[in-house]
Parts: sequence; structure tokens; C-alpha cells
Amino acid sequence: MDYQTVIIGGGPVGFMLASELALAGVKTCVIERLEQPVPHSRALTLHPRTLELLEMRGLLNRFAPQGKKISSGHFSMLDTRLDFSGLDTSTNYTLLLPQAMTGQLLEEYARGLGVDIFRGAEALAVTQNGEMAKTIVREHDGTVRTLRSLFVAGADGAGSIVRKQAGIEFIGTDSTVTAALGDVKLLSPPASGVLSLCTKQGGAMIVPLSPKLYRVVVVSPYRAQTPKDVPVTEEELKADLMRICGTDFGLTDSVWTSRFGNAARQAKQYRNGRVFLAGDAAHIHFPAGGQGLNVGLQDAMNLGWKLAADINGSAPPWLLDSYHAERHPVAEDLLSNTEVQTRLLDFTPAGLHLRSMMSNILAFPEVNQYIAGQISALDVYYKADQKMPAHVLNGTRLSNVELVLPDGKSEQLYNFLRSGKYVLLSLRQEAGHESRSDVFQTVFASFAEPREQWCGVHTALIRPDGHVAWAVDASDPDLSAVIQAGISRWCSAGC
Ligand SMILES: Cc1cc2nc3c(=O)[nH]c(=O)nc-3n(C[C@H](O)[C@H](O)[C@H](O)COP(=O)(O)OP(=O)(O)OC[C@H]3O[C@@H](n4cnc5c(N)ncnc54)[C@H](O)[C@@H]3O)c2cc1C
Repeated sequence: MDYQTVIIGGGPVGFMLASELALAGVKTCVIERLEQPVPHSRALTLHPRTLELLEMRGLLNRFAPQGKKISSGHFSMLDTRLDFSGLDTSTNYTLLLPQAMTGQLLEEYARGLGVDIFRGAEALAVTQNGEMAKTIVREHDGTVRTLRSLFVAGADGAGSIVRKQAGIEFIGTDSTVTAALGDVKLLSPPASGVLSLCTKQGGAMIVPLSPKLYRVVVVSPYRAQTPKDVPVTEEELKADLMRICGTDFGLTDSVWTSRFGNAARQAKQYRNGRVFLAGDAAHIHFPAGGQGLNVGLQDAMNLGWKLAADINGSAPPWLLDSYHAERHPVAEDLLSNTEVQTRLLDFTPAGLHLRSMMSNILAFPEVNQYIAGQISALDVYYKADQKMPAHVLNGTRLSNVELVLPDGKSEQLYNFLRSGKYVLLSLRQEAGHESRSDVFQTVFASFAEPREQWCGVHTALIRPDGHVAWAVDASDPDLSAVIQAGISRWCSAGC
């Protein structure tokens, strides 16, 4: 075997997955066809749940200084913004960080963990049999070689060759409308630097990328049918801005322009035998609300520790299939919320009335928090494990709570997740159930601030991605047996 896992695609999702595997000691490589990273950025935003994942691995301090914290987001460019500041998380903001930088930081991290990264190498074919997967790769010098591995992961974007080779259907709809963007200089930018405006002439958004560069996005009803491959010109952007905003802000010197559409598709299966899909290889949609990259990184986090556990011999047989079971519904919701956002980009008189009404409704705090929960991905929870006694916390995510340790010292929960292992959190500070394991770390602690649903909890197993595998209350008559059964069920190959 050349590698335990071969990852096709060195975009952010591929590097995130590679890092998670390498963290668990899995021999991993990334095959990326581009010799150099792409300098421009499609995505600009990292949402709260992604920031939590970075915090869990001790990476947030590498990312945060490179970006700008913004405590709100948008839903279909409605006037009322989503307020992230009240969300139950220590990362209650989005980080404005161009995708190129996200990719660079993740590539550096993966390299530092020992991942072999082959740039200028293209995957041509992927096959599998009972024993292994084989990836045929054309290297930068033209030589073709075959890499043998236990698993292959396709993080190779929307056109994924891995998905096609694995015979996985990409179900959905083609693009019916397109929009345009440009990274440009503005000689007379909006006074506050940012803009979001929708009129009967269309929608325009402006975001500063650096003191000299702005991202301009235009959704023009006059050009909605323009095919994606028709280049976007400065003249087009200027004319659209003039129509929508009454000024073109002195737009000039574009460094990158692009047209994008609302094709929405999802892989029917995220797994076929030894082959897995993550990120855009598994789902595409209109980039409304800035979610695609985030959901892709969250896919990678969900898959990484499961694949590593399987390779390292500590995964129960059902664990790998839970990747599809948990992540497919998340992208179904993603496709549905981006479709709603696309429909709301309606600049007819009736459409503008609807937008105005939706914007008013979004001003109700409960509604705002509900949608903010969706876009931030903090509302994602997984189905409770039916083989464990029911508990309201099973499958939910736990934010980065402050713990008080037996010696009185404080520690953030996420610090215990840095190694990518499970945390067996024993909240009654009784040393009776301590177990030693390479797979989980036992932490005796109490919460510094009480949390309602956690009041009666004796012990909980926190997964490497911060979700609760199971929790058991101190009042449970079979406490010890439940804890032992829960550890065996999640942390050993035999269950
Ligand atoms: C206009 C626009 C704005 C967006 N804004 C946001 C936003 O604000 N927030 C957000 O979360 N998302 C946003 N997105 C979506 C986001 O850009 C994507 O979801 C993200 O790039 C997906 O990452 P990925 O790693 O899965 O795929 P990609 O970034 O597409 O990376 C795939 C990699 O695989 C490589 N590759 C492909 N085939 C092969 C092969 N055969 N062999 C070797 N290598 C191969 C490619 O070269 C590429 O580097 C936006 C998208 C668009 C179009």
C-alpha cells in the first residue's frame, strides 16, 4: 500500500480532511492538479461553526488575525441582517477571510502534520476492489503512476472525477440564472466601505477585501440568462452598478471577474465502498449566504476522525456509513435554503414587496436567531444513537464551555479536543470510571456556568467533532453499565 488514504483535490476541503487524518497518524497524500494555488477567492466567509472546528484543533489563532470579525451575516441580501452575536458559541461572528488564505493556511497545516502534497499531479482514474483502491495519477512531468491505498476521498470540486469514477449520481438541476462578480478598485467607494442594495434594477453587494480592492457582486435581472462562460467585463459591472446604485463607484482595474449560476446538485451517496466524497464534489448550489466552503470543511471534519478510526482499528463497523447518514441531510438543507434565497432575489414589484415583508419578519429576534442558526451551521445536530439509552443531548453539539478541573483550575473544553480524540467527560468528578485509552481522553470536571440540559448529566462521550455521542444522567439506575456499553459501542471495533 502506498498510502492509507489518497485525497484527490487540494482545495480547502481536501487539506482539512488530510489534516484530520494525519493528526490521527494516518499516512495520507493529496493530489492537486494545479502547480500553484489559485490567487483569487470564490468564498470570503468562514461561519461560526467552521470557526468552532478550527478552535477545536487549536487553529483559530492562525486564522483569526488574517481576517476581519463581523458579527452579522445576510440572508438573500435582505435589509435586516442576521445577528450572530447572540449565538451560543465563543465564535459568535463570521470571519471575513478570502478563500485563497483559508486554503493556504490549511495547506501549511497539512504539510506540517506530514501529509504528502503532490501539486501539478492530476488524478485520471480511480478503481477499487475488495482489498484496495487504485488511483492513476499523471504527475507534473507527465509520468503516469498508480497509487494504492485503503481509501480514496474525492475533494475535487464540482466536476469531481472521483464521483464519476465511483458511479455516484449527482442529482439536481442545472443553472437557470447567473450573477456576476469582480474584484476591482473603486475610486469612490461607498462611505462605509460596504454596500448591500436591492432595487427594481437588481441587487448589488460591495465588500472591501483590502484597502485597495473590493468585491463587487451584481445580480441583474437584465443579464440573468447570460451563460456562465460569457466573460464578465468592467463595462458590464459599471453599467449594472450605475443602474442599481446610481453610481459605478469609479470601478476600475479588475483583477478577477467571474460569472456563477444556481445549478444545485447533490451526490446520491457520499460513499461507494472505499471511495468517499466531500465538499463541492458532494454538493453544489447558488453561493447565497456564503455557505458552500463552510459545509465542505464541516464534511471533512465529520469524515476525518471516522476514517482514521476505521484505519486505526478502533471504529465500530457502523461508524463509516454514519458519514453519509449525518452529512447528506445537512447539504439537503443547504440546497433548500440557497434555493429559497435565490427565489427571494426577485426584483419585480411583487418580489420587492415579498423581500420587504421577509426583512420585517427577520427583525423578530426568534426568527433572526433561527435563520442565523441555519446559516452559521450551529443548528446542525445528528440523529441520536438508537442503540444507546435516549438522552436529549445525544447527537447535539457542545460549544466551547469553560470547565473547572478537580484542582480548581479552569480549562476550555475544546482544548481537550486538539488531539482529535474523543473526550469522556465525567461531570461528577468521581475517579471511579477512569479508563485509559488511545482513542479517548477522560476529563473529570464540572461546568463553570451551569447549562440547563446538562444539569443531571454524570458522564458524556464527546466526539472528536464536538458532538455528543451519548450522555447519561447521574440518576440512571444502570449508570456504570451504560457508560461501559457506550465506550465499547463508539470506541472499539467489536460493536
Ligand atoms: C462566487 C462564489 C462565491 C462563493 N462564496 C462563498 C462564501 O462566501 N462562503 C462559502 O462557504 N462558500 C462560498 N462559495 C463556495 C466555495 O467556493 C466552494 O464551496 C469551495 O471552493 C469548495 O471547496 P472544495 O475544496 O470542495 O473544492 P474546490 O475549492 O473546487 O477545490 C477542488 C480542487 O480539486 C482540484 N482537482 C479537481 N479535479 C482534480 C483531479 N482530477 N486531479 C487533481 N486535482 C483535481 C482542483 O484543482 C481544486 O484545487 C462561493 C462560490 C462561488 C462560485
